[in-house]
Amino acid sequence: MQNGAEKPSFLVLENYIGGKFIPGRSHIDSYDPSTGEVYCKVPDSGEEEVDAAVAAAKKAFPDWSARSPQQRADVLNKLADLIEANMEDFVQAESRDQGKTLMFARTVDIPRSVYNFRFFASSVLHHTTDCSQIGHMGCLNYTVRCPVGVAGLISPWNLPLYLLTWKIAPAIATGNTVVAKPSEMTSVTAWMMCKLMQQAGVPPGVVNLVFGTGPRAGDALVAHADVPLISFTGSSATAQRITERSAPYCKKLSLELGGKNPAIIFADADMEQCIETTIRSSFSNQGEICLCTSRIYVERSIYSEFLQKFVAAAKKWKTGSPSDSQNNNGALISKEHLEKVRGFVALAKSEGAIIHCGEGVDQLDLPAHNKSGYFMPATVISGLPDSSRVMQEEIFGPVTCISPFDSEEEAVARGNDVRYGLSATVWSRDVGRVHRVAERLQAGLVWTNCWLVRDLNLPFGGMKSSGVGREGGKDSYHFFTEVKSITIKH
Ligand code: NAD
Repeated sequence: MQNGAEKPSFLVLENYIGGKFIPGRSHIDSYDPSTGEVYCKVPDSGEEEVDAAVAAAKKAFPDWSARSPQQRADVLNKLADLIEANMEDFVQAESRDQGKTLMFARTVDIPRSVYNFRFFASSVLHHTTDCSQIGHMGCLNYTVRCPVGVAGLISPWNLPLYLLTWKIAPAIATGNTVVAKPSEMTSVTAWMMCKLMQQAGVPPGVVNLVFGTGPRAGDALVAHADVPLISFTGSSATAQRITERSAPYCKKLSLELGGKNPAIIFADADMEQCIETTIRSSFSNQGEICLCTSRIYVERSIYSEFLQKFVAAAKKWKTGSPSDSQNNNGALISKEHLEKVRGFVALAKSEGAIIHCGEGVDQLDLPAHNKSGYFMPATVISGLPDSSRVMQEEIFGPVTCISPFDSEEEAVARGNDVRYGLSATVWSRDVGRVHRVAERLQAGLVWTNCWLVRDLNLPFGGMKSSGVGREGGKDSYHFFTEVKSITIKH
């Protein structure tokens, strides 16, 4: 710092443990992806902070778990109201922290975070348990469900508050207390939510937030003997590590992981609706949604027409300053991630693919203050064999590949020919075919003639390397509780 020069002022986050904000001992830089500048300091927590948070959560458990579902639901609803009342602050913060457009944060991330609390506040009131035939062997047999204890929750950077609240809400609604660790790259909205906990009536220790990296804070949480359950959303590589680290403790695990999601488009599809939706499913949130389409298989008779119309629409998908409401996409999360995504386009090119638009083809016209941001235009590729790494690996950016197919059999086989199995879309007006194909696709979610329409009552999760377990209304209830069979002899 030069003499007289003003010190840059950073937003400095603190851990939230036992209802108190505790300053970090050291910090990690957090970048504004749209400018490439550090603007925030995130605590670099480790074992010590995680121990303190787990102890606070353990202490709060007996009282919280003894409350009725209705009492807990009231607290969740109050927290939802408070986030909603501060909606625009959360929207601005999420956009700045993650790089996504204000519009996306305003219409998707924050409203859904509010809804997650409201949904589970309501859903937890309506579950029933089982009872056997009265008199079976002279006994009454029935089940009860109890909260598991201290839940460890680990979430990624792409939908920061949305995915964190998707875990916190069902965990505390069912009577658990939690220690949560959001991504070190997007911790701000989680910290802002902590500021509302007291007013919402969340007792100290019920929700604890420990900020930091995966290998330090995340690992300490996963390997903590007093945390019997881990709900993780993130990459398949990290999930493998978490599985190994938690194995000695036989923890309950829910793993929501990556995808390489196909769209299968038959000649009888409504072309206009299909293109509009498949553009969104490929590029929304910079392609940084685990459910984004990244392989598009099109029936050969309409392939040329589809490709031409799809590329024209992709060129209209605008990328630039997240605050400009004309833009569909903002910046990617980090410089490293941008390089990784660009690397896939370079690889495709080296393998002889055609890059129809986007990276290396179209220049972005960015405002001066965004010139060092991590932007990349919507990119469409064709001409790759299915064996290419570009067709097999999760790219998690605004890149999608198109390829023709000749038969239903072939489309299903190629759709399934990756290690992932998270989601798929099928486009056809033939209801029989739609049903056949949906049934045969190896994916936890299949959308036909639409994308990302979610009923939170239904199971969410992936097959194969896309995950273990399901979350959603009843599934979250089952995951965050232990079932017990009780037999009463009369
Ligand atoms: P990531 O696996 O790198 O990190 C996710 C979280 O895990 C972060 O909080 C990180 O700090 C933590 N972490 C990293 N190493 C850890 C370790 N050794 N122990 C404990 N925690 C650790 O994933 P990411 O890059 O943040 O997110 C992108 C990935 O998430 C993509 O693969 C995407 O598909 C996936 N994702 C899946 C879903 C889903 O619901 N299936 C939703 C969103 C994102």
